[in-house]
This record gives sequence, structure tokens and C-alpha cells, in this order.
Amino acid sequence: MGSIEGVTNITVGVLALQGAFNEHVQLLRQAAKILSTKETVERTWSFTEVRTEPELRSCDALILPGGESTAISLVAQRSNMLEPLRDFVKVTRKPTWGTCAGLILLAESANRTKKGGQELIGGLDVRVNRNHFGRQIESFEADLNLPFLSDGDDLGSDKHRSPFRAIFIRAPIVEKLLPHVAGEQQGEASIGDTIVAPSRTIDESVARGINLGEVEIMGTLPGRAAALKTDENTGKLDAEAGDIIAVRQANVFGTSFHPELTGDPRIHVWWLEQVIEAVNLRRTS
Ligand code: GLN
Repeated sequence: MGSIEGVTNITVGVLALQGAFNEHVQLLRQAAKILSTKETVERTWSFTEVRTEPELRSCDALILPGGESTAISLVAQRSNMLEPLRDFVKVTRKPTWGTCAGLILLAESANRTKKGGQELIGGLDVRVNRNHFGRQIESFEADLNLPFLSDGDDLGSDKHRSPFRAIFIRAPIVEKLLPHVAGEQQGEASIGDTIVAPSRTIDESVARGINLGEVEIMGTLPGRAAALKTDENTGKLDAEAGDIIAVRQANVFGTSFHPELTGDPRIHVWWLEQVIEAVNLRRTS
């Protein structure tokens, strides 16, 4: 108890270069209110838009919003934010959550990227397939059963059991879990005509003895894979198991969909709880 109480000021940034950053800030505020009714400790949250390196440095945790990963990557590159972001995620290893375009940026490898026009931050040992479900007009909503939301959730039994209504807009899926290697995903450099944009930051975590562990599948979208045209990549997925749409590895969490557009704060509440734990560990160790 004492150690948790030690952490009372937490700053969470939302990368605000392009996309749905404001929606995340609103939902984070809602989530913090819900948390304050669950906790005995008075906590001061700061939710802040991040555009510069000093702003990033002030953050304990970061969200990368949905939007357009090519645009976010381009603006990040022009404003010299790519390397600071890679440091934040892969060296300092602070809690980071990417939604949709944010998930793409946090992947170590991505398919169907804009050749010569897109860079990744990396941090999740996965390959994502961009625009997996097709174009904007093929956007859809789906009820997801996300097991992590019911673990220890006391928001009320009806609420925590109800499925999470998720919005998929030109969403990526995780099409492959990759083995962790220090540095670049070399094996990913050329797979047929797949365009891959590997991260360039040398991963220091291994050298520093930080165990990144396996990529954990946190959510799937059942019943879609079978209905999709199977090409070489989607054919590797188990159609029964569904498409992987939420993953976590060490400090990094990624979702294909947009919880920030639904007004349902449950994932934000859950993630802020993870942030509290991580910040607490960091500040007391
Ligand atoms: N397809 C977009 C991209 O590649 C992601 C879409 C989204 O974030 N809604 O960046």
C-alpha cells in the first residue's frame, strides 16, 4: 500500500502530431475520474499533448493515437521526434499504447507500408498488415470480448461483462508474432513483395538485462479470417482463432481499433492501472 501511495503525480502524454489525439485526452480524463472512485489514494493526473522532445521527456507514459501512420511518421521525422520516441519506447521502456495507426508505428515490422515514405518506431515484436480489412468504406464495428477487462474489474458486473464495441477504420491486424532480436528484425527485410519498414534503433534492453518476454495476444476478432480472401499472409492465420487485434509486450500495448472513438473508457481505465504499476515500480526501484 505504502509504495502505491508514493506515486501520486503521473503525467500521461498523447502524441499530437496528427489523428485522434484529443479524443484520447477526453477519455483519459474520464478514466481518471473512474479510477479516483476506486482508489483510496489522491492522485494527480496530467494529460498532455506531446509534439516536442521536452514534452515527451516530461511523460511517464504515452499514447499514440489512430490517424494515418504515414502522416504521423512523416511529421515525427520532420520534427526530429522519431529517435526520441524510439528511446521512450525501446530504451527507457515507459508504458506506451498505440491505437490503430499507433499500433502500426509501434510494430517492428509492417506490411503494405508506403515505400520510402514511412518509418516505424517499433517496440512490439510483431508484423502488422496495414489496411487489412480494406478501404475506408469497409470500416465496421464489432463487439469484442476482451478478457483483460474483466480481470479484477469492479466497475459493476453488467458493465464489465458486456462486450467492448470496437470501431475498425482502415485497421491493421497483427499477422505475425516475431522472435525478439536485439536491433533490427533482419529476417523481416524482404519477404516476397512485402514492403517492410523495420525499426532502426538498436535495442538496448537486452544489453541492460531487461526481459521483454513474449508478445501476449490480448484480443482477437473471431470469425473474420475465414471470410477473408486468403493470400499468403492471411492464410497463415488460424481462421478459427480469428484476427489478432490487441497485443502486449513488456511496456508496449497495441490495439487495432479505436477505443477513443466509442466513449467507453474501460480500456483507458485498465491501461492507467498498468501505468500506475509501472510508474510505481520505476520510482521505487
Ligand atoms: N490505415 C491507417 C494507417 O495505415 C490507420 C487507420 C487508423 O488509424 N484508423 O495509418
